[in-house]
Formats: sequence, C-alpha cells, structure tokens
Amino acid sequence: MPQHRDKQDQRKRLTRILFASLALVVILTASLLVANSADLKRNVESTTRSYVSDVANQVATDVNARIDEISVTLHSLVNSFASVGVGGGHQAFLDEKAEILGFSELFLVALDGSPIAVTNAGYNVADQAGFKNALAGKTGVTILEDQSLSYAVPVEIDGSVEAVLVGVKDKTNLRKLLQIDSFKGLGTSCITDRSGNVVVAARDAQPFIQINDIFSGKGDESAYVEVQRMYLDMRDGRDGTITFTAIDGHEVAMAYNTLKTNDWILLTLVPADIITADLDFYLQKTYAIVAGTILVLATILILVFVIERRSRKEVNRIAFVDPLTGGMTRAAFEAKCAKLLQTNPDDYGCVASLNIQGFRIINESFGQKEADKVLRHVDRTIKRTLKEGEYSARGEADGFYLILKDRDQQRIEERLSRIIEEVNSFNKTSETPYRLLFTMGVSLTEDDDDIPLLMEHANTARKTANISVCGFYDAHVIERLKREKEIVDLFEGSLANGDFSVHLQPKVSPSERIVTGAEALVRWNHPSKGTIFPSEFIPVLERSGYIRKLDLHVFDILCKHMSTWISQGIEPLVISVNLSRKHFDGVDFLESYTTIADRHAIPHHLIELEVTESIFFDNDTIEVVKKAVEAAHAEGFTCSLDDFGSGFSSLGLLKEFNVDVVKLDRVFFLDDSQRARDVVETIVALAHKLNIATVAEGIESVEQTEFLAEIGCDQIQGYVYSPPMPIDSFIEWRDDFNRSGSR
Ligand code: C2E
Ligand code: CA
Ligand code: CA
Repeated sequence: MPQHRDKQDQRKRLTRILFASLALVVILTASLLVANSADLKRNVESTTRSYVSDVANQVATDVNARIDEISVTLHSLVNSFASVGVGGGHQAFLDEKAEILGFSELFLVALDGSPIAVTNAGYNVADQAGFKNALAGKTGVTILEDQSLSYAVPVEIDGSVEAVLVGVKDKTNLRKLLQIDSFKGLGTSCITDRSGNVVVAARDAQPFIQINDIFSGKGDESAYVEVQRMYLDMRDGRDGTITFTAIDGHEVAMAYNTLKTNDWILLTLVPADIITADLDFYLQKTYAIVAGTILVLATILILVFVIERRSRKEVNRIAFVDPLTGGMTRAAFEAKCAKLLQTNPDDYGCVASLNIQGFRIINESFGQKEADKVLRHVDRTIKRTLKEGEYSARGEADGFYLILKDRDQQRIEERLSRIIEEVNSFNKTSETPYRLLFTMGVSLTEDDDDIPLLMEHANTARKTANISVCGFYDAHVIERLKREKEIVDLFEGSLANGDFSVHLQPKVSPSERIVTGAEALVRWNHPSKGTIFPSEFIPVLERSGYIRKLDLHVFDILCKHMSTWISQGIEPLVISVNLSRKHFDGVDFLESYTTIADRHAIPHHLIELEVTESIFFDNDTIEVVKKAVEAAHAEGFTCSLDDFGSGFSSLGLLKEFNVDVVKLDRVFFLDDSQRARDVVETIVALAHKLNIATVAEGIESVEQTEFLAEIGCDQIQGYVYSPPMPIDSFIEWRDDFNRSGSR
C-alpha cells in the first residue's frame, strides 16, 4: 500500500507540474505577444512617420519649385522691359503675357504701391507682405481675399528697385500640389503661416484636425512636448514630424516643412490610425488564434488527463473489486490486511484460507451461472459471520481468505466449521441435497506479519489437511513439508533401486464367490526409511509430477507378472491399475500404456484403467477425460470410475462418462442405515441400466457382502476377502479362494 500511496503522490505532483507548466506557457506566450505587438506598433509608427516625412518633403519640394518657377517667369518678364523703363505703356504687353502664362492679372506697381497702369485701380498692394518683400529685392507672395495668390518681384533698373511686377494667379494649381494620393487618399497638406493661419489647403482639413488647436497647444495634452519641439524647429527652420490625437479622436501624424517663401510652413497630415487600425485588426486576429490554440491545447490536455484518471480508476476498480461478489479482490485484501496489521497488530489473530472442493463439478453439472451463485452465497455467508473489523475476500476461483481477530485454535476451528455448516444449510431441504466440501487452513499472525506469506502458509496448511479438517500452519505442517521434500528426494533412487513393489487386492463376485479380478496397488519399502504408505507419498508425488513415472513402473511390473502367468498357462483375469489425474495434463499417456502392454504381449482387454472421480476437482474439463476414455476403449482397455461417492458424487458423471465399471467408495458402506442402502441399491440399478458394472470397495463385513449379492453388485473388494497382497502370492491365493469359495 505505501507503494501505491507513493505512486499517487507522484502522480499528484506530476499533475501539478503539468498545470503549472501550462499556465507558464500561457503567460509567456501572452507577454511575448504583447511585447511583440508593442514593438510592432512602435515600428509601424516610426515607419509611418518617416513615410509621412518623405511625402511631406516631396510636396514641399514641389511647392518651392512651383513658386520658384513663377518667380523665374516674372523675373524674365521684368528683364524684357528693364531696358525701356517702367512707364505705363507696358500694360498691353503684360495683358498679353498674362493670358499666355496663366495669370489672371499682371501689372506694374510703383514704389508707393499704386498701380502704374490704370486698369488695375482696384488693387492696393501697398500693405501686402509680398509687395514689401519685393521692395526689399526678393520675391514675395501674398494671399488675396478671393483665394488667389499675388506674386510680387522687384523691377530693378541699374541696381535699384524702380517698381514691382505683380502677378495674380488662381491658387488651384498650388492646391493640386498639396493633394496627396498616398494613405488611401486620407492624407492632406496645407500651407500655413507661423501662427497657424491656413494660406492654402488642399481641401478642408477640419474633419480630422483643428490646426489652430495644435498651435495653441489645446489639442492633445500628451503632444505638448512635441508641439514645443515643433515650435523650436520652425523657428530654426528645421523640418520634422509629430504625432498626436486629433479632436475627433483620430491618431494623426503631421510633418512640418519650412517653405522658402515668406514664413510659410507646409503641414502634411495623415490619420496614422488608418495604418495602425489594420495592424490592430491583424494583431487581434493573432491574439485570437493564439488564444484559441492555447484553449484547444488546454482542452485536449485536460481531456487526456480526465480520461487517464478515469481509466486509472477503472483499472483500480478492476484490480480491487471482485466483479463476482462485489467485495475485495485478493490484491485489495492483501492491501487491507497489511494496513490492519500495521495499525492494530494486536487486534488480529489469524488469516484463514477456505477452498471449495470439487467446485469444477458444480461448474460442469449446473453451469457457470449456478456456480457463480454458489460462490456469492459462500461469500455472503462468510461475511455474515464476521465480527466488526474482520474482513474476507474471494481470492482465487473458489478460494476465500479471512482475517479474524481470534487466535485460539479451537475457537477458530469452531468458527470455520460454523461457516461451512451455514453454507450448507441452504439446501438441506431441497430434493437432491448436495454438500459443499471445504479444505481449510489457518496461519496465526503471531508467527509472521507479512500478509502474502501468511496467506501462503494458510494455503499450505489447507492443502496438507484433509477435507473438512482445519489445518494450522504450525510445526506439524512444517514437519510435513520437510517430509514431503524427503519423499521427493528419495523417489528417483528408490525407483532405480526397485524399492517399489506391486500388491494385488482381489475382486470377488459375491454371487459366484469366485475371484473375478484384482486391483494393482503400489507399495514402497525403503531400505532405511521402512514402509512408506500410498496415502502419504501418492499426493506428494502427484504434486511433484513423479506420479506418472511411478504409475508406468507399476504397470510394467504388473504386465511382466501377467505375461509370466500367461506363459505358464495360468488363466488370466482382468486387473485394474490406478491412473493418476496427472496423466490427463496433456501428454498422451495412453501411448505409454499400450507400448508397455504390447512389450509384454498382454491382451488389452485384461487391463482396466481406474480413473478417480476427483479428477474433476482440478482437471480442465470433462471433455479431456471423455476423449481419453474413448481412446482407451479404441485400444481395447476397459475403464472404471474410482472412488465414486468419496467426493462430489454426481450421478450425471455416469451418463457423461462412458466407463465400463464404477467403483463405489467405502464411504457408502460406513453407514448401514436403510437410507444408505437404498442409495447404493439405486446406484447399482442405475449403473446396470447404463450397462456399467459395479464394484463395492472397502467391504469389511460378511453382512455387507450378503446385501451386495442381493442387490446384484458385480464385484466386492475389501478386507472381508483379503487385503492387498504381494503379487507373487496372488495366483496361489486365488486358486485357494476359488476352490474353497465354490465349495
Ligand atoms: P484406492 O485406489 O481407492 O485403493 C483402495 C485402497 O483401499 C487401498 O489403499 C486399499 O488397501 C484400501 N482398502 C482395500 N480394502 C479395504 C477395506 O476393506 N478397508 C479399508 N479401510 N481399506 C481398504 P492403499 O493401497 O493404501 O492405496 C491408497 C490409495 O493410493 C489408492 O486408493 C489409490 O488412490 C492410491 N494408489 C495406490 N496405488 C497406486 C498406484 O499405483 N498409482 C496411483 N496413481 N495411485 C495409487
Ligand atoms: Ca483404485
Ligand atoms: Ca478406490
């Protein structure tokens, strides 16, 4: 269990780390995104600024060039009449030139500002800034009320200004220069003076800017520093750009360029957010994609986590809940007991193991559904008898484990017996009562505190005990295990040494009182250990697998004797040999038997193979035995069902199992009640009906032989006639018996 807990903790830690990492990834991605988009925005802004300033420079160059061009044109006109003076006679010439050069008016003005030709009497240029510039020898430009521009150049004759040439031009052309095609047509330019009064505008700049506000510092407060810088730049004739938020909320980038004419400044305005708006859209899209991806990833992760947890729970459930009883599995029981012994070591006295005998027959005879019911019944019964704090579980197929608080052997025995009584009380009243037989083993917790070991010891104690007897794992059992080991160790040597011999026990026909057969029984006489009894070594050799070798050895000795008899002309009789259940484990045992029989030239019909009823306790299916019986028949051997009634006597077996002989176990004859006799009579009758011969085993009294003769039992084997005898004495004994019996 601590291991399990460790794993759980580890898993919890891992989950925490997983979610923390996920959160970290989200935070990291988010901050990277934000930083990146801020960078991008800055970048775009500076690109926008430099783009705006490029465009503005271009416009400024164009505007300067246009004004220069006009001034050059006017200068060249001035040159044409500089030699002839500035009298009034030029007007016709100027009118003509105006027409050609696209001036709405072209006229000369005297130094006091009055026009030299009368046609332009409406103009008083004396106050115009342009005119004043011209007087100072430069080109001057003035904006007029009617939105046209008046250009003034000095007329210098012999180094002194004699008059001023004024050309008035519609400002449409200049205006066109100010129109900007880039920035989706949303950009615009205008020319202002240093106070922010618009001189020429491409179109109305009002929608997105109040130029006056900027100049008065009323606009965007954050732009205040920038505006101050702009003033300084303007004063010093430097160009630059600023960005600010216009009154309508738009982000505006504005370039300012000092023009060559007057104190004019070219302002180029672009709503910067038309570019950042696109950027924002893409950024938002990116955010959405990243957020979506993280969300999907997180969902998948959580899903995987949930599914994993669910399947882990399911695995735990499968490992810890017995689907049949709904109780604990062996693993769960082990874990539970380990915990109990750890926390309350003094409370618990023992671990017990119970196993149903011949459960396979219940399975075969009644079907799995019924068998499952039986298991559930046993499970429930056990649980009912448990005290507070005691637990039980189904361990193997038909095995149960209990942890009990009792430590007194007698008390434990009583409790287990009571469980078995209660288990069997359910069908006491039914038509065909059958008894569930158990093997029981107990190991005391005072000997050990390792649960798997305690369970194993309980099992060992159970296996070494007889049916319905509670075995305790104690010095006895340990002694027994030692003895088992000794038997196994002795076996091969004894076999080679010829320590095994064969005894025969006669089978007598009660009606004719003659010997009609015999059973071969093995005997082991060890030179130093003395006689070892079959009841002791047969189960050990079965567990170790040596039994097959021994059975064939016995059969070989028997066949050798039979062949001697045959060669001596002695009348042969059918002799049966015991076949261990181990022969049915898969190897083709029959071949070995035929080989031996044939080697000694023994007719197969003289051999009867005894198969114990208990084979169904642990062999896979009836099918295997059924096929083996058929194969034996095909070889000419006869077969008998041995120990019938000793365990789980099912009459169904007789029908299922095509045997020639059934040997009624001596348990039938221990009870001489009328009811017991009726049972025997019925079985004999049924067997005869099925064409099966009957042998009564373990018969010790003459009355029994009389009863058996009466009901038509075919053969009797028992001490009443003779115990098993050395094979060498058998023929003599038989002949004696037959002579005296038939007398
Ligand atoms: P089993 O096949 O049921 O053999 C009959 C047993 O009952 C024999 O015990 C026999 O001595 C004993 N017996 C015969 N008549 C009487 C009687 O009137 N009263 C009492 N109380 N007992 C009687 P055994 O020879 O000690 O053999 C015990 C078991 O060992 C046999 O039971 C058989 O299952 C097994 N066994 C004996 N020889 C072999 C063998 O060669 N191979 C195998 N696989 N098993 C063998
Ligand atoms: Ca037998
Ligand atoms: Ca028997």
